[in-house]
Amino acid sequence: MKKKLCLLFGGKSAEHEVSLQTAKAVIKALDLTKFEIDPVFISPEGEWRKGLPLEGPVESVEALQFGEDKTVSATEGLQSTALTVSEEKKEGYDIVFPLLHGPNGEDGTVQGLLEVLNVPYVGNGVLASSAGMDKVIMKNLFKEAGLPQVNYVSFIRSAWEADREAAYSHVEKEISYPCFIKPANLGSSVGISKCTDRKELEAGFEEAFLYDRKIIVEQGVKAREIEIGVLGNDYPEMSVPGEIVAKKDFYDYKAKYVDGDSVMIIPAELPEGIAEILQEMAKKAFQAVDCSGLVRADFFLTENNEIFINEINTMPGFTPYSMFPLLWENTGVSYPELIERLVELGIERHKEKQ
Ligand code: ATP
Ligand code: MG
Ligand code: MG
Ligand code: MG
Repeated sequence: MKKKLCLLFGGKSAEHEVSLQTAKAVIKALDLTKFEIDPVFISPEGEWRKGLPLEGPVESVEALQFGEDKTVSATEGLQSTALTVSEEKKEGYDIVFPLLHGPNGEDGTVQGLLEVLNVPYVGNGVLASSAGMDKVIMKNLFKEAGLPQVNYVSFIRSAWEADREAAYSHVEKEISYPCFIKPANLGSSVGISKCTDRKELEAGFEEAFLYDRKIIVEQGVKAREIEIGVLGNDYPEMSVPGEIVAKKDFYDYKAKYVDGDSVMIIPAELPEGIAEILQEMAKKAFQAVDCSGLVRADFFLTENNEIFINEINTMPGFTPYSMFPLLWENTGVSYPELIERLVELGIERHKEKQ
């Protein structure tokens, strides 16, 4: 029997467009003899819209952005269309695939809704999603697990507003320039600044607090950027390492989505033994945050072969040209196979919870 899959995509975040491209690629890769697909589009304003189950591959992303007449509530969106087609067929979805990045998608909120509705879903659960989205909580968990990281300090907006001078001197006491300032809960490098002096530090605080009430300031390092894919539940497997070579000062939003001239090297050429160390650390990071399904773990590797974990991403970029699928392709798991594995892992985790 075909599995009923609900594909949730779009979403109310800076990464809306990326999600649309991903949805099209995932639909194209899914075997329609094995899956019945219900696409559910979330508009940039946060409205849920639902079309009919797909009969064949989609021609364009536009065809999936249903009009306002297709607006449904979130809970209606997550009910199998079979309900309206035939009243006897009351069973729900076999799996929901939340193909959403950033706040309101990758951060545990949608995952919580799916838990309440008792629907199996692909990827990380509520705790791992929210802990992975908050860079301060994530780094505290890494610290607990003994993973090497750069120094960091964090601030909430109200404390900074009460005494800005104290915040800046605290940074300068703990960290040397250059440093990186980031909103605690974001992705795609949105709101991130590299600061080389007090003036840039002050501007970086202003910028990051536009996006979040909590920010993190990290010691900057000069290093290569190496990423590892992790796939699995209780017994995670690791991909070969990949390297990002940003043509700019750092891998910022423009370098990721606008200029497109950053290069991915897979597998990364690394000194003897480093790949294995990174894979072991990626597994430790996955377990430290209690992840399931998938994670992309991002590392810094310095000239002296010093390693720091930068972060994990609980719903990494997932187009066929994104790092995570390419890492797996180079490890022997094709894009369609990867999607099927993720579906199986989601169903397995749901069963284990019962
Ligand atoms: P995404 O989720 O898209 O990977 P993000 O918004 O979570 O990105 P980070 O990965 O933390 O952001 O940082 C974005 C980029 O900024 C990194 O890929 C790297 O180029 C640079 N960067 C971040 N932190 C540091 C640091 N401490 N030292 C040097 N470079 C850094
Ligand atoms: Mg990230
Ligand atoms: Mg991200
Ligand atoms: Mg990153």
